[in-house]
Amino acid sequence: MTPAKIPSVAVLAEARRRAEQAAHDADAANSTQATSVDAQQDKPSPAAGEHEDEPDPRIGRKDKVLPARFAQAGQQLFTSQEWEAQRLAAFQGHAHEALAVGVRELGGPLEQFAIPRRAAGPRDIVIDLEYCGLCHSDVHTARGEWGSRALPLVTGHEMVGRVCAIGSEVYNRQVGERVGVGCMVGSCRVCEPCKRQDEQFCIHNAVGTYGAWDAPHSERTQGGYATSIVVPEDFVLSIPEQIGPAHAAPLLCAGITMYAPLEDLRVGPGDKVAVAGIGGLGHMAIKLAAAMGAEVTALTRTPAKAEDARRLGAHEVVLTTDEDALDAARGRFTVLVDAISAPHDVGALLDLLAPRGTVVLAGLPADTDGAAMPLVDPRTLVNRGLRLAGTKIGGIEQTQRMLEFCAAHGVVPDVEIVTAADMNEAWDRMVAGELHYRGVLDIGSLDSNLNA
Ligand SMILES: [Zn+2]
Ligand SMILES: [Zn+2]
Repeated sequence: MTPAKIPSVAVLAEARRRAEQAAHDADAANSTQATSVDAQQDKPSPAAGEHEDEPDPRIGRKDKVLPARFAQAGQQLFTSQEWEAQRLAAFQGHAHEALAVGVRELGGPLEQFAIPRRAAGPRDIVIDLEYCGLCHSDVHTARGEWGSRALPLVTGHEMVGRVCAIGSEVYNRQVGERVGVGCMVGSCRVCEPCKRQDEQFCIHNAVGTYGAWDAPHSERTQGGYATSIVVPEDFVLSIPEQIGPAHAAPLLCAGITMYAPLEDLRVGPGDKVAVAGIGGLGHMAIKLAAAMGAEVTALTRTPAKAEDARRLGAHEVVLTTDEDALDAARGRFTVLVDAISAPHDVGALLDLLAPRGTVVLAGLPADTDGAAMPLVDPRTLVNRGLRLAGTKIGGIEQTQRMLEFCAAHGVVPDVEIVTAADMNEAWDRMVAGELHYRGVLDIGSLDSNLNA
């Protein structure tokens, strides 16, 4: 449905300029009011001049961002009431248009086109997006490997940007603040899993960030390969200022997918963790498990990845094509994270576990490939008290905890920045395992001149 009224590109550009100005003003205010910052913050406020530091190349650009929870509830940074009214008027009650990269048919090429974004409600946040990670799920979905979807389809569920506008009943967000959105943009919020902060397991199905029916808003969701998005405040995450936006993006799917099982299994010093499949997911598992204090072994069939796995933090590498090395590794690991997305023999991985050990499945093959995977012999599990588990992203609270953990431990993904023009090639390279390790779309590269 075409929205009746769409704010012009000029309104959006003005909103972006205002958001940047608000971030800048807040930064300056923060420097001079260091003692009044909310006590909930773990980190001391930056001293005046600290923002002039050289950026840390390991974690990307050190952007000027508002500290989360900077202000008291309801406090606004705006000095201009006129702008405040204009900002709300632009989004609350009015749909707007975003420029996006998506497919017009399943399996078709990625193209640029405009999509409508719904009117922001009183508890919504409008985000001006900066980066969006490329996930294997995007490709599976857009190529029809996980069933049919409404078209056109814009994928992307690892997005980071700045708050561009907030609904009139949003009290804990500031315009200009850096935020992120992961794989969900809604859930029922009243079922048992939702009440346990396991929104990903909502019995009424969490609303996927793209290609899902969002019943409360009567629309199909469209993802983060786009210049903006409108999201309920409960599904918006704070991005710690220590993590640059391009590096923060992949944490919102790949990061949480690997963090959740490690935290759930209380991985720490004394654990021997193996990671199978060193790609977008697996490379995060190595970094996270090492940061948690575990002894980490990378399992790979590619000799070229051995050195890289050590650089990522693996203490040891076992080539799965080397039968002797595999034999020596049998019965050793307390936890094995299986991030292989191609069909493979899980039973062979179970053999590598110590008694009571756990294999966690995190990679998902295409529907047709999954049926081809060999079954696990029950005796493999029973005889040594092994556990075979699955994991699926994490709840919003756990995702926020993951972001704070990554900020505190300097854990960030290895990223390759991709422009909109290179997206088709980037998807092919991701499928071929050639991206190191997570592709991230620079939203600034979308070109309204190519708008078809
Ligand atoms: Zn994903
Ligand atoms: Zn629910």
